[in-house]
Amino acid sequence: MQRVDCHCHTHHSDGSLSVADLLKLAKEKGLHGLSITDHDTLAAYQTAPTLAAELELELISGIEISAEYQKYSIHVLGFAFDLQHTALHEFCATLQLKRQQRNEAICQRLTECGLPLSFHELSIRFPEGSIGRPHIAKLLVEKGLIKSTRQAFERYLSNQGRCYIPGLEVGVEHAIDLIHQAGGLAVLAHPHLIRPLRIIPTLCEMPFDGIEAYYSHTTLAQAKPWLDLASKKNWIITGGSDFHSPQKNYIALGCAFTPPEYFTLLQKRFLQNNSALSTFSASVETCHF
Ligand code: AMP
Ligand code: ZN
Ligand code: FE
Ligand code: FE
Repeated sequence: MQRVDCHCHTHHSDGSLSVADLLKLAKEKGLHGLSITDHDTLAAYQTAPTLAAELELELISGIEISAEYQKYSIHVLGFAFDLQHTALHEFCATLQLKRQQRNEAICQRLTECGLPLSFHELSIRFPEGSIGRPHIAKLLVEKGLIKSTRQAFERYLSNQGRCYIPGLEVGVEHAIDLIHQAGGLAVLAHPHLIRPLRIIPTLCEMPFDGIEAYYSHTTLAQAKPWLDLASKKNWIITGGSDFHSPQKNYIALGCAFTPPEYFTLLQKRFLQNNSALSTFSASVETCHF
């Protein structure tokens, strides 16, 4: 069985590995391919296609957009889009700027609350990419200002926390639309984690193309309702680990994967949208999804 992990992160968002090390690990684990889905950034794809080709790993474009529905955080995965798409790059650049402003505000508020943390320190500690609350929590722990990431979120960073600053305010439908504009397919990420449950039916009415039914530690019984939904809606089914770091060893790269028939479909679409990337693309038949 060819395993393809369509949900993992690098240090360009909140993962700990570089693109090269992530791809090396994928090879060591015997994966057939993968999609890197960093939060709100395409930075990994500056090097990923060349490095993946060298390792003979099949790679398709991916992103995980931090969207919101009624103030609840919803993650939208995008796959197989054009890696050069201007609007998508502009969107990522705007989000990075918003993240920076938000991080500055969080640092200021933490300092006022007796946890001295400067935005400068944060930028030095995490020089790469898409920085957010997980990085802030990590630095608070490293500085000995708080016991654990969990406590950092509970007391300060979550939307009930003392230092909460609202998110990036990207609507779910806006995220889906942008992925479509770039020629990609939009997939509802880790649906079993969505809370409150009552918003799920509304989300499922949105113009998604697929759902992430397979995820680390989900059982077949847990996947079943999402598989049934996908079949009803004629959606694609994806799967991935949501791997972030080898230190988090309970979430291993490749522990969940995308069914090969859906990966083939995504790969065809990826090659159509990125013809400059592959010398084989001319022979790929048209994808009619
Ligand atoms: P941000 O993109 O900066 O808003 O951070 C969102 C990320 O923070 C999510 O993707 C989670 O990884 C993490 N996160 C959110 N809430 C919690 C929580 N209560 N405990 C630990 N991590 C959390
Ligand atoms: Zn993440
Ligand atoms: Fe996510
Ligand atoms: Fe993720």
